Amino acid sequence: MWSSGIIGQDKVKNTLNKSIQQDTLPHAMILEGSSGYGGLPLGLMIAQALLCTESEHDLGCGQCKSCHQVDDLIHPDLHIAFPVVRKEGVERKNTTSKDFMPLWRDMILENPYLSYNDWIRAISKTSANGDINVKECNDIIRQLSLQAFAGTRKVQVIWIADEIGTNGNKLLKLVEEPPPGTFLIFICLNTEKMLGTLISRCQVIRLSPIDDASIVKVLMEKYQVAHDLAHQSALLSDGDFSQALTYAQLEEDTLLDHVLQWIQLCRIRDYHGIRNWSVAFGQMNTEEQKTLLSYFLKVLESIIYGLLLGDQAIRMNELDKKKLKSCVSNLHLSVVEIEILNDLIADMTSKIERYVPGRMVMFDGSLSLSRILSGKIHHPG
Ligand SMILES: [Zn+2]
Repeated sequence: MWSSGIIGQDKVKNTLNKSIQQDTLPHAMILEGSSGYGGLPLGLMIAQALLCTESEHDLGCGQCKSCHQVDDLIHPDLHIAFPVVRKEGVERKNTTSKDFMPLWRDMILENPYLSYNDWIRAISKTSANGDINVKECNDIIRQLSLQAFAGTRKVQVIWIADEIGTNGNKLLKLVEEPPPGTFLIFICLNTEKMLGTLISRCQVIRLSPIDDASIVKVLMEKYQVAHDLAHQSALLSDGDFSQALTYAQLEEDTLLDHVLQWIQLCRIRDYHGIRNWSVAFGQMNTEEQKTLLSYFLKVLESIIYGLLLGDQAIRMNELDKKKLKSCVSNLHLSVVEIEILNDLIADMTSKIERYVPGRMVMFDGSLSLSRILSGKIHHPG
């Protein structure tokens, strides 16, 4: 049952449940928010409720054939579209979600909070951007115009609808007047990229970050993460389950130790250490490299919060707070300097995304970091 796998989000779950009960669910809706907030599992929960053949169960009975098929993402009246890249041997204009469906299904069944980046990385060896093309839009229109296979309803889920772009024009008529019994659920990260004309024809539900306690519970129960690590990962993730899971699954030393060690190497200009550190960084996979850099951004944010709002504003456990404070207390960073560091890390991340070798990115970045921190050395060595 998709409804039972949803992490937190009780409020929106209740609202949707009520609309389903009262039969007031809009025929076109947008669930907006980071993938880690759970837009997709919520969309699939709605689909399951709509397609269940035992109508007395509001969110689906979980027992009927229809519910099982939605659980496995193989219901003939549940249509799903998502961004793809060109498939080998097929022209891009002819490539659609169907060409990647088995892989997508496996990945979503494994983790419905999958991030868009992880998806694109799984299907593209290069830094190609995915999108939802014209053929996909035409397919959507065509299949929704057909009779439902099993019951009277059809559900179209469009995951990362951000990537429809102006092709969304094709869907305007469909969204305005869907065939009877048809529901369109757009899952998007941010409505900014979507056509205003499309948005205005849908009911938009903006998802909030997931509460910390719900994230901690799932990390501990489903992923066997130890309490302290689960708690720390939840705090850092700002309510994004994908992020929390990524943080929690990095083993050994905590990310904070890594980041502080790096700052220390740069601060004392230990070039030998920086070289070894860069080599080790180069051996991580792209996702781990990006996680480390994004964690660095979190640390910088924490330092700013500490400076401007006091220690209680820092979202870290007490031990980490102490480590952070003892490291930054002799750096005397100003808010402006932290902004410069922010830009540096953002630049490093974008190089990693463009597949510049991690070792080079890290070595260059470390030299810049050393320069920024160099005026800060009070007791070198
Ligand atoms: Zn059912």
